[in-house]
Amino acid sequence: MSDKQKFLKVAINVPIDQLFDYLPNGEPFSIGQYVTIPFGRRKLIGVIYGISLHSHIHPSKLKSVIKVDPEVIFDTQMLKLLTFVSEYYHYPIGQTIMSVVPSRLKNNLNQLRQYELIYQATEKLTKEFINQLPARQLRIRKVAEAILISDMRQTDVMKLVSNWSDCVHKLEIYGCLKSKIYEPKEEVSKVEIPSLNDEQKAVINAIKNKKGYQASLIFGITGSGKTEVYMQLIEQILKESNAQALILVPEINLTPQLENRFRTRFPTKKLVSLHSHLTDIERLDNWRKAKSGEARIIIGTRLAIFTPMPFIKIIIIDEEHDMSFKQQDGLRYHARDVAMVRAKNSNIPIVLGTATPSLESWHNATRLDNKYNFLKLSFRAVKEASLPKIQTILVNDKTKNGISRALVDAINDRLKRKEQSLIFINRRGFAPTLFCSSCSWTAECKRCSSKLVVHQKTNRLKCHHCGHDQNIINQCPICASMGLRPLGSGTQKVEEALNKLFPNASILRVDKDTTRTKKSLTLLHDRMNNREIDILVGTQMLAKGHDFPFLTLVGILDADNALYSPDYRAPEKLFSQLMQVSGRAGRSNIAGEVLIQTVFPHNPVFEGVKKHNYEIFAQTLLQEREQMGLPPFSFTAILRVESKQLKYCEQFINDAAKYAESLSNKVVIYDPVRPSIERLKGYERFQLFIQANARKDLQNLLKQWTAYLRQYHLANRVKWSIDVDPLEF
Ligand code: ADP
Ligand code: ZN
Ligand code: ZN
Repeated sequence: MSDKQKFLKVAINVPIDQLFDYLPNGEPFSIGQYVTIPFGRRKLIGVIYGISLHSHIHPSKLKSVIKVDPEVIFDTQMLKLLTFVSEYYHYPIGQTIMSVVPSRLKNNLNQLRQYELIYQATEKLTKEFINQLPARQLRIRKVAEAILISDMRQTDVMKLVSNWSDCVHKLEIYGCLKSKIYEPKEEVSKVEIPSLNDEQKAVINAIKNKKGYQASLIFGITGSGKTEVYMQLIEQILKESNAQALILVPEINLTPQLENRFRTRFPTKKLVSLHSHLTDIERLDNWRKAKSGEARIIIGTRLAIFTPMPFIKIIIIDEEHDMSFKQQDGLRYHARDVAMVRAKNSNIPIVLGTATPSLESWHNATRLDNKYNFLKLSFRAVKEASLPKIQTILVNDKTKNGISRALVDAINDRLKRKEQSLIFINRRGFAPTLFCSSCSWTAECKRCSSKLVVHQKTNRLKCHHCGHDQNIINQCPICASMGLRPLGSGTQKVEEALNKLFPNASILRVDKDTTRTKKSLTLLHDRMNNREIDILVGTQMLAKGHDFPFLTLVGILDADNALYSPDYRAPEKLFSQLMQVSGRAGRSNIAGEVLIQTVFPHNPVFEGVKKHNYEIFAQTLLQEREQMGLPPFSFTAILRVESKQLKYCEQFINDAAKYAESLSNKVVIYDPVRPSIERLKGYERFQLFIQANARKDLQNLLKQWTAYLRQYHLANRVKWSIDVDPLEF
């Protein structure tokens, strides 16, 4: 048997949906290993997806692999999952696999590192020594200064300077530095573990009592003790030797606070995180620890669903409704949906938790005969912490500065009591547009069909879609009038207005322009906890995960925007956002108050939020969706096309539509339309929405359709993609 010719079926990162056959090169090989292969004139990297005794191509015509990497990247379980993902999202298998491996592995096979170093200063490293270093050795000085203050981990040095390894090497040559292998300290946890209330106990029992695959939805308001339930569940499951747990959270929620909460509870060594703020090496290291079984708890964002974990025993998805679980380019997967399949394949429980379930999950939990276990946590776990009082304030166009009298009074009350307020407006910059009062011209981006945002502080006009950035202009380019003025308001304008209204208060603006790093968020927490700040003005960045004990008032300025949106998911999104923001108010023993400014106080979204009643709202929305035949009562996909030339776009999408029509009469093909941003970064855009009553019909059509489109003659003149179960339009 063994001398029979074997063929390696290799998955390669190219936009062709097939495997490629190669011959072994004499090195030992197995499924899931990386190989370097000749591909045309290039050398590429691929993964051995299968080993076969057959090939459609004669061995004399096949090339051999160049090199086999000893590390097995994915086992057959993971390859099975990735195959499903490739087929379900209609994305080529090679590209699918390559989208989910750590980039360090993808790009640089040789620089593998199994351990991390920690650097320490020798006696030779002194202030005097640093001072006599040549001035141009700026980076070396920076590293030396940091290490003089305290020992530094390799990953931290990397974040300090770009050419870190040269700097470290020089300092070693100077005899200033020694290194040793870094071993994280095992921290002894001192936290008091609360004893669970009856509801929490019931939830844990319900999950524990069933063996094998089972999906549960924990529906519980913010502060009802969901995280505590996750932790105690994990604790019990990890009692089994080797068992591993995976927790997925939205990027914005993976705050240092949340990570620390887990770290104080579980041995630090056994917990790793996976998210975009890690360096490539940290990410790879953590990924390897998960793959080897060394890490027992993996807490990560979307992409972490593809982490190999040989002993996985539970998957938890916090804030399951969060739209950031869906990837919006390349491999457009939904991490929650992939997690569901992974849990089924591995025959393990999966737990979804949220205060505002997605309608998909709500439907599965409440309507489809117990498809999900529906579990409720109905009150805040800490007795003193009551729910905030949520009210609407009727406003009109004349409301000065966009901030109503009632809100001003409420802020004044807080200032008197030394409590804090958060003013929430989901738009950064000073004003969303620059407007000519003589001829009504507005400043637009040349590359996108969108308005340029006024940034008063820096005197710039910026496009928030493509990053275009220019000086502010004073004269209208059409009518030459000097009467240009900013229209509408963003965080900067609100900040300015608040400064005028409350000259003695300490006001801080938090948005992408002021707060870019995790560190600045940690600093923000310290300043809030020390009560150095009276009023926070911020965007969505502040909506989630932050706990400020002295914050008792939340004011929401621009909630109505979402009500004008054509997106049928907009009310659902708005509701969860309002609940999230409201959750910031009064998390400790001081009661919180939330004031929502609106022109439509009786809109069902606001009515529901005021009563803290998601249930009625969700039922109503679900009925509407059912009547209109929208998801989760139907299954949808979008074909998106873009090109610098409109004619290619139009021709491609029209032909695609025609072909789709010919494929099935069970799938509705809508007319091609332009998305709300018609042109983006210089690319003209079109999209086509399709819908079916059965998932199978949709999938069948997509399969034939994508095969056709991949070889359609215009396919290399446009960029196109298929989005299955789209969340955005
Ligand atoms: P959620 O994840 O639903 O927002 P958390 O698990 O963060 O809720 O709980 C909110 C607060 O209540 C936390 O400070 C947590 O420590 C505390 N808590 C949770 N469960 C209990 C309990 N059974 N007894 C006392 N405090 C609890
Ligand atoms: Zn003008
Ligand atoms: Zn632009």
